[in-house]
Amino acid sequence: MPKKKKLKPSWLDNLKISVKQALGMKVILCDSCRYDWRGACHQPARPNAVWCPDYSKRGG
Ligand code: SF4
Repeated sequence: MPKKKKLKPSWLDNLKISVKQALGMKVILCDSCRYDWRGACHQPARPNAVWCPDYSKRGG
């Protein structure tokens, strides 16, 4: 049975995002997401999502 998709970031996801931001790392997912174009992405967070349930790495 497939794992239920997360609808919200967990506290651990948020912690990881915070740590990366503190280190000055790029945390925007949309830049490397295969759905980063109009019509493919239905997330209101685009183009500045730092966490996204639909994220899929481009070219992967
Ligand atoms: S699916 Fe998520 S990560 Fe991908 S472009 Fe849309 S908001 Fe950004």
